[in-house]
Amino acid sequence: MSPGRPPARPPSAPEPDPTADQATKDAMSNATTVSPAHSASTASTLITDITALVTNDPSLGDNSPLGLIRDAAVVIEGDRVVWTGEASKAPATDNRVDAGGRAVLPGFVDSHSHLVFAGDRTEEFNARMSGRPYSAGGIRTTVAATRAATDAELEANLTRYLAEALRQGTTTFETKSGYGLTVEDEARALRIAAAHTDEVTYLGAHIVPPDHADDPAGYVALVTGAMLDACAPHARWIDVFCEQGAFDGDQARAILTAGRAKGLHPRIHANQLSYGPGVQLAVELDAASADHCTHLTDADVDALASGRTVATLLPGAEFSTRAEWPDARRLLDAGVTVALSTDCNPGSSFTSSVPFCIALAVRDMGMTPDEAVWSATAGGAQALRRTDIGRLTPGAYADLTLLDAPSHVHLAYRPGVPLVAGVWRRGVRVV
Ligand SMILES: [Zn+2]
Repeated sequence: MSPGRPPARPPSAPEPDPTADQATKDAMSNATTVSPAHSASTASTLITDITALVTNDPSLGDNSPLGLIRDAAVVIEGDRVVWTGEASKAPATDNRVDAGGRAVLPGFVDSHSHLVFAGDRTEEFNARMSGRPYSAGGIRTTVAATRAATDAELEANLTRYLAEALRQGTTTFETKSGYGLTVEDEARALRIAAAHTDEVTYLGAHIVPPDHADDPAGYVALVTGAMLDACAPHARWIDVFCEQGAFDGDQARAILTAGRAKGLHPRIHANQLSYGPGVQLAVELDAASADHCTHLTDADVDALASGRTVATLLPGAEFSTRAEWPDARRLLDAGVTVALSTDCNPGSSFTSSVPFCIALAVRDMGMTPDEAVWSATAGGAQALRRTDIGRLTPGAYADLTLLDAPSHVHLAYRPGVPLVAGVWRRGVRVV
């Protein structure tokens, strides 16, 4: 957002997760009692000499949507931020970390990934980038490999990609099932994912699997019946790939509505490869996010601007398939809230790097560096309807990324350079 441009919607607008909200309130009340030089249970740590601190609170610092504070400091205690401001005004603490005149921003919130899978699709990518036809089965290839893998293999794969993402500054991630497509395989994917994140999405409706190719209606009945029953206990969200060749608008509506009846909140893969009903269905059902949004009519943009549904853009997919970019500028100018995520998956976007997506969004999708950084932090949080992440203000989780750079702008200015020099997750330095 250029100076003075308001956020599409205030970062405080999303519906808070009830449990997160309570936790936030608890931490906020702690914040009023901070200066615990001798805290009984948790030491406080001052991170100071931050040349530019992104808080995502427009009431702070330069009053931009990023709430950028110069010569700043942050105090963390336990797993929360308890104080944010100018370094010269920081309270006394037990410990002190010198950021060395570098930039700090909230940990990235990657609100869209597909990390429970086995195998890879190197040959498919190589053929696509070499202009050669490739007839093997795309998602079906990954489904076959995933079904054949053991639980331990799937978990080891997931853990590896999470560590990779963490090194690049991602402190919260959402991930999905969708490569099992049987009752047992979908439920185990979600069980494995739930051991590593609260943001777990049931995507039994990724494609119609080959074993149901002649009976798509029967597969939708399974996804909304026995598979949903087995998966709902392990997930927070339900998703559907609403696209020609996957699931149409009526099927998507039936799937998301059935999920909602079981307590899952909807999100949707919408309008990625072609125009279609996905985006407007997302807004109608108050989905937290419509993801991809590459092919949009004016009515689609108007619908997004009028509702609470975030448009999550996934430029890794367009990069890796040489497809047309989503038009972030058009969405932002219409007042739509935009999130940026990786879509990390073995077929169409095999990157776990949010900084890479920020660079693409700035270079090719019309976003300013400030907008892209906001969308990859606060925007991702809003796409998950969370108020306790994606910002660095009292009460938020102490999820911070330290850059080996004087400004967050370097994330786009120095593409491909490993700038992440430190990561704190839930108050613990992990990188
Ligand atoms: Zn996806």
